[in-house]
Amino acid sequence: ATQRAVRAERLAAIGETVAALAHESRNAIQRIKAASEVLAMDIRNDSDSEEELSAIQRAASDLATLLESVRAFAAPIHTKLERVDLEYIWQRAWNDLESKWRLRDAKLIEMASTCEHEVEVDVCRMEQVFRNLFTNALEATDGSVRIEMDCSCDERQVHVRIKDNGPGLTEEQANHMFEPFYTTKPTGTGLGMPICQRIIEAHGGTIMAESFETGTKVSICVPREKTASLMGLPEVSLA
Ligand code: ADP
Ligand code: MG
Repeated sequence: ATQRAVRAERLAAIGETVAALAHESRNAIQRIKAASEVLAMDIRNDSDSEEELSAIQRAASDLATLLESVRAFAAPIHTKLERVDLEYIWQRAWNDLESKWRLRDAKLIEMASTCEHEVEVDVCRMEQVFRNLFTNALEATDGSVRIEMDCSCDERQVHVRIKDNGPGLTEEQANHMFEPFYTTKPTGTGLGMPICQRIIEAHGGTIMAESFETGTKVSICVPREKTASLMGLPEVSLA
């Protein structure tokens, strides 16, 4: 809990600066994108220029993605709590991604469970957790993507395991994947897992990852209600 408080404080210190920076850069990126799109139409026939132009557009788009992640990382988690079915949230996150990755052979396989998925959470932020985890599973796996969702519950918490069929984690990945900006991907941001951790911990839950020969398993545990001990923690309020 102390470690969490220290991390929250450190985040609060950088939060405002990051939010301002993200805001300012977003405008500049928008201008680069808009101008290069107009240019692209002007130089259709000159294939050299077209290549350079699309490099500029890709760079702008990567930068926009990075900034959006940094913004999400520093953004406040007010935990605007709503009572919802957790399964509904991960299905919404999955539907969202499925249309984006429609070319891929990807399936979400839900293990039969009879447990009650109802939790009190910030729906938007929790959806972001599943989107980040599913995205990592999709990016880790060549060919057919199979993600198994397995859930168990008691009256105090809901425990969800998300298991992919990728290569699993190296020791280095397992040790560093929750560190901000740690990434093994050419255009990764390294903020997906830290954002997940921040959101889950703001709900008083836990998240961890394990590696198997058959893939990576991420386990998250979400209390059904914000616990009394958590109420005592300073609310992380940034940006
Ligand atoms: P990013 O996806 O931008 O690289 P993340 O914080 O989401 O950043 O993940 C950090 C790193 O952890 C990834 O670059 C990858 O090396 C590793 N990782 C995360 N999830 C998985 C997974 N499901 N399978 C394999 N490696 C993973
Ligand atoms: Mg990621």
